Amino acid sequence: MSFVTRFAPSPTGYLHLGHALSALTAFDAARAANGRFLLRIEDIDLGRARPEFEAAIYEDLAWLGLSWEEPVRRQSEHMAEYAEPLQDLIGRGLVYRCFRTRKEIADAIASAPHGAAEERFAGEALPAEEEAQRLAAGDAFAWRLSLKKARAALGPAYFALVFEDETAPVRAEPERHGDVVLARKDFGASYHLASVWDDALQGVTHVTRGEDLREAAHLHVLLQKLLGLPQPVYRHHRLVLGEDGKRLAKRDRSATLRALRDAGKTPADVRALVGLG
Ligand code: GLU
Repeated sequence: MSFVTRFAPSPTGYLHLGHALSALTAFDAARAANGRFLLRIEDIDLGRARPEFEAAIYEDLAWLGLSWEEPVRRQSEHMAEYAEPLQDLIGRGLVYRCFRTRKEIADAIASAPHGAAEERFAGEALPAEEEAQRLAAGDAFAWRLSLKKARAALGPAYFALVFEDETAPVRAEPERHGDVVLARKDFGASYHLASVWDDALQGVTHVTRGEDLREAAHLHVLLQKLLGLPQPVYRHHRLVLGEDGKRLAKRDRSATLRALRDAGKTPADVRALVGLG
């Protein structure tokens, strides 16, 4: 079996030890399987992505000793392509325009009949006339996946959705996410749509990422099913914790690869620091 995996950072900050663990885990696995390692730049959030962070990604990964296939897929160069899966879902009535603000959604969740903290947003399209008025007024909206419609479309297959988490199958629970945003009026695709689409397009067989993204797999397998895309195997690795015992965040400057390099650390030190020594 061919083995294709990827590291897909967003250029919204400098890479830190957590990213190093992701990238090295994926790279080592590809090498061990005699497979392919891809680098993908997830820069669809044009407001937050910065060229200097992207340049730093290439520099830091090369310093770590990684190499990847060229050309690198930069999502910002392919924004129009994400219209294809979106139009497919729109045509099948599986997404709807949601005009609610974040605050309105928070209120709707708070007043949901079950009232449970984990209650997630479920909405539906406005009546046609009202929607036409909102559109004519130029109001902002998001395209949300309707879990209700997805369940109806898939029937029993919805409840049989599983994803391979390394070796064990996990029953997918897309409802953990509620009706997620797949695109916005003026923003072609969300992370979920672009990531799932690109993994299929690039022939990714193994998705390697931190366990903080295991939640996303519950939704991604549903999107794959609805869009007729192949399902990769998921490999969620443990997270690297900071000195305070909490997961690393972009603000932890001292854990960035450049800070470590400036402090005289070597790529071998970084491997040891993330437990791959
Ligand atoms: N771009 C995402 C991030 O930097 C990773 C997404 C993924 O690996 O699927 O958190």
